[in-house]
Amino acid sequence: MQLRDLQKQYAALQPQIDEAVSNVISSGSFIMGSTVAQFEQQLAQYVGIDHCVTCASGTDALRLALMVWGIGPGDAVFVPDFTFFASAEVIALQGATPIFVDVNPDTYNIDIVDLEQKIQKAILDQKLKPRVILSVDLFGQPADYLQIRELADIYELYILEDGAQGFGGTIWKEHACSFGDISTTSFFPAKPLGCYGDGGAFFTRNPEWAAIAQSLIQHGRGITKYENVRMGLNSRLDAIQAAILKVKLDAFPKEYERVNEIAKRYTKALSSIVKTPVVLENHTSSWAQYTIQLADEAQRKALQEALSAKNIPSAIYYPNPLHKQPAFEYLQLGEDICPVATKLCSTVLSLPMHPYLTDEDVDLVIDTVKSSIK
Ligand SMILES: *Cc1c(COP(=O)(O)O)cnc(C)c1O
Repeated sequence: MQLRDLQKQYAALQPQIDEAVSNVISSGSFIMGSTVAQFEQQLAQYVGIDHCVTCASGTDALRLALMVWGIGPGDAVFVPDFTFFASAEVIALQGATPIFVDVNPDTYNIDIVDLEQKIQKAILDQKLKPRVILSVDLFGQPADYLQIRELADIYELYILEDGAQGFGGTIWKEHACSFGDISTTSFFPAKPLGCYGDGGAFFTRNPEWAAIAQSLIQHGRGITKYENVRMGLNSRLDAIQAAILKVKLDAFPKEYERVNEIAKRYTKALSSIVKTPVVLENHTSSWAQYTIQLADEAQRKALQEALSAKNIPSAIYYPNPLHKQPAFEYLQLGEDICPVATKLCSTVLSLPMHPYLTDEDVDLVIDTVKSSIK
């Protein structure tokens, strides 16, 4: 059993993937071109948004958003304390200041009460200009965008939706990567929609922002290739990856259904024994991870060992809150600025979750958790 099984997925999709890759190779067109443009259209249609610009990674997609808005020194960007490092790294790379916000212990997503308090505090402090709420759709579930949008409107902030893990999730049947003023995703292999290398995408309804992003990914090019109108990046999705992603996007709805079946099974069997993840009403998750909470670190360690003895992998996402990462020491943050995030780091455990788990696999995980906790 694997946490996320890319080999089984390849076995299921092999004829289509092999053909798609070999078509790109014989076309001789590897960078940008029609394969990438067609995939961008298909992706925008799936998400339900006007503009999609693909790029070299989810991290670059986030960075592009901040570049488009001109976020830099003196600006504050609010980001959850419990997420992958890249969500906050891009803020600091642009010279802006990340302000870490605590998360909701049921959904693992940004906590609305703490978010508003931290925005108000930043306004009172007058040291930084609040500009962006960078909210993360952690483990597959979209953050609470109804409430985030209200705060963004009140305090005149942009919303940047980090949908690296959220692709496929919904609120009121609307898809993730459509909730931000700009939204992004990642095609890192283990993400809900993954390629066979690195890749990412940037989504927006604003045609000017999309045009700037399109320029930025090609060294800030102007109308012609050798006219450069701004400093940019070299950040493009390869045609081979786009061709692979097209096959995987076609298979995605069926896979999405299956991971939701598995999640239901886990929750039904485990919710009386451990804390299982909560999906908000009118939300759905694409289950990038199925993450439970144990009573304490000792119980988590015992469970990891019990699972491991049955050859069942498990993983800790994430072992450290961002505010305690050595790279952010320069911010000189206090000890317990985000107590929920800090606690989650010592109690969470992610169980195997992917569409190619069999019912027997799922039952084995459930039985092992049950007998270990008792
Ligand atoms: C994976 C991930 C990223 C970065 O994506 P890459 O494609 O690996 O650069 C950003 N944010 C979150 C929440 C992620 O999980």
